[in-house]
Amino acid sequence: MNLRRLTIYAICAGFCASRLMAAVEWQVVKVNGRDFLSVDNIAKFYSFPNPVVDGTNIKLSSDKNELQFRVDSREMLINGVRNWLSFPVFVHDGKVLVSRIDLAKTLEPQLRPNMIKNLGRVQTIVLDPGHGGFDKGAISGYGYEKDYALDLARLLRPVLQAKGFRVIMTRESDVFVPLELRARIANATHDSIFVSLHFNATDRDPIASGFEIYSLTPRGAPSTYEDWLTQMSINIQNGTEADAASVELSSCIYHSIIGHIGEFDRGIKRARFAVLRLTKIPAVLVEGGFLTERGESRLIANPEWRKKLADAVCTGIENFRTLADTKKVPLVVTDYRRQKTGAAAEKEPLVNPAAPPTLSLDMLQSPGNFVPLQTPTPSPIGTAPAEP
Ligand SMILES: [Zn+2]
Repeated sequence: MNLRRLTIYAICAGFCASRLMAAVEWQVVKVNGRDFLSVDNIAKFYSFPNPVVDGTNIKLSSDKNELQFRVDSREMLINGVRNWLSFPVFVHDGKVLVSRIDLAKTLEPQLRPNMIKNLGRVQTIVLDPGHGGFDKGAISGYGYEKDYALDLARLLRPVLQAKGFRVIMTRESDVFVPLELRARIANATHDSIFVSLHFNATDRDPIASGFEIYSLTPRGAPSTYEDWLTQMSINIQNGTEADAASVELSSCIYHSIIGHIGEFDRGIKRARFAVLRLTKIPAVLVEGGFLTERGESRLIANPEWRKKLADAVCTGIENFRTLADTKKVPLVVTDYRRQKTGAAAEKEPLVNPAAPPTLSLDMLQSPGNFVPLQTPTPSPIGTAPAEP
């Protein structure tokens, strides 16, 4: 093992005012030429009290943030929602290690969103309803993905406008728009973000359900559905200046939709979809449930449910704008759920009571219960690996 001590000034920038934080050094551990940080080191840097370890399950919790994860897994609950890391957490020489890419590209933006650099103003929202024209997208017994995506964008536009955003849509009717053109439309805007709207499908698992959201895979890392062992050496392209903003935009929208609507949490994921790869502004792709799952396809076909989804996406976007404007840390899933329980009059049953609940600490502590709906493999359940 090649152990190198260094202080990462870049990460420290902006908070060297805090003597306590500046005193924490990063101890990069090199394994097979790659950089990793120990969980103890991470805990110290982010002022987490000592990690709670139970078998292979680990929890870091402070008044600001919470991380729950498991050795040999790419899955990590960050502030209560599932995230897919680029590399598994693993044990080496008695230390639990997290990859430096995951720390920098996934953990840091979400643990300290107020520290993200280059977060520009957010005035314009580019809404990108997936598919269109001959490209119908996924199909359910009730309708086509292209129509649901367009309707969701049409529902979202007025609520965003009511909040003072300017809205541009990459298509306003049932027409085919090439992916490159969608990205070009986005890149022609200023002070803007890009939100692509899709619904999911799989022919491998008829009961697969739930929400997921994507931002661009960081440079040097495999996408969520790639096998990290075989892909890690070849995927060195891509990654953009907007990486941190994009993953935080994912986080803002995702916490809101999971916090407002009781569908299964499939997680914050990474892919190199064309619309993410080619856009230069913060960009995400939302998968608003499965058209191939019976219960969820019925929900998606319900205009009221789609309006609820539109409202939740809008709230997430508003939180992102507030972060960009004021550095105020966005609400997370537990905040939204608390708001919901607070509003007793609005008490309503979970729209899909059959969906597995978000993992709790109790579940985490009994390894037998820590079973994700699906683990990314080279043959993914859900979105097609190439384009959604
Ligand atoms: Zn799609």
